[in-house]
Amino acid sequence: MAKKTPIPELKHLDHVLVSETAIKRRIGVLADQINRTYRGKDLTVIAIVNGALIFTADLLRQLRTPLRLDCIRASSYHTGTQATGKPVIVDNLKLDISGHHVLLVDDILDTGNTLSAVRELIIAKGAASVRTCVLLDKKARRLVPFEAEHVGFEIPNEFVVGYGLDFNERYRNLPCIGVLKSKYYAPKL
Ligand code: 5GP
Ligand code: MG
Repeated sequence: MAKKTPIPELKHLDHVLVSETAIKRRIGVLADQINRTYRGKDLTVIAIVNGALIFTADLLRQLRTPLRLDCIRASSYHTGTQATGKPVIVDNLKLDISGHHVLLVDDILDTGNTLSAVRELIIAKGAASVRTCVLLDKKARRLVPFEAEHVGFEIPNEFVVGYGLDFNERYRNLPCIGVLKSKYYAPKL
């Protein structure tokens, strides 16, 4: 096989917090938990995009239940690393979830604002049950009480990018989770 071209943006990372191998391994464990929970049940997965896109794609291929997939859009980080007030939830669900078991998937649980708002929306639509699976959990930043049933990694209070997570829409394609070098946060003049 031809040698892979290295991703130049990997050099933008100050340090890697979670490696590609660690993510792969942990997704296997999460999938086992989720497979046990929903064995024999009809499951609807709702991914909060864009952030959850890559995590969801990898997780779903390890799930062994005849599931349905839908996406919802939520944005709280409009520019830079700071949330700008309440998340905007764009309810563009195509599937009817009334009476269905829902697994919400997101990249990271931070203040809890996004997941609690989306969870309320799912409950209001009459879901039979709602559980949450996040790859990352920044417990120290919680503003509203929220616990995810399935957590990949608890991480410290640092702004991370990669594996779906962006900084100004860049870096989502990195295969690992890392912290950017400070010079890449600097606004372009
Ligand atoms: P919350 O509503 O829990 O504060 O934040 C959820 C959303 O904020 C996540 O889905 C993610 O899009 C964004 N977010 C929170 N922390 C980080 C971070 O460290 N890095 C990036 N790139 N996005 C984050
Ligand atoms: Mg997000």
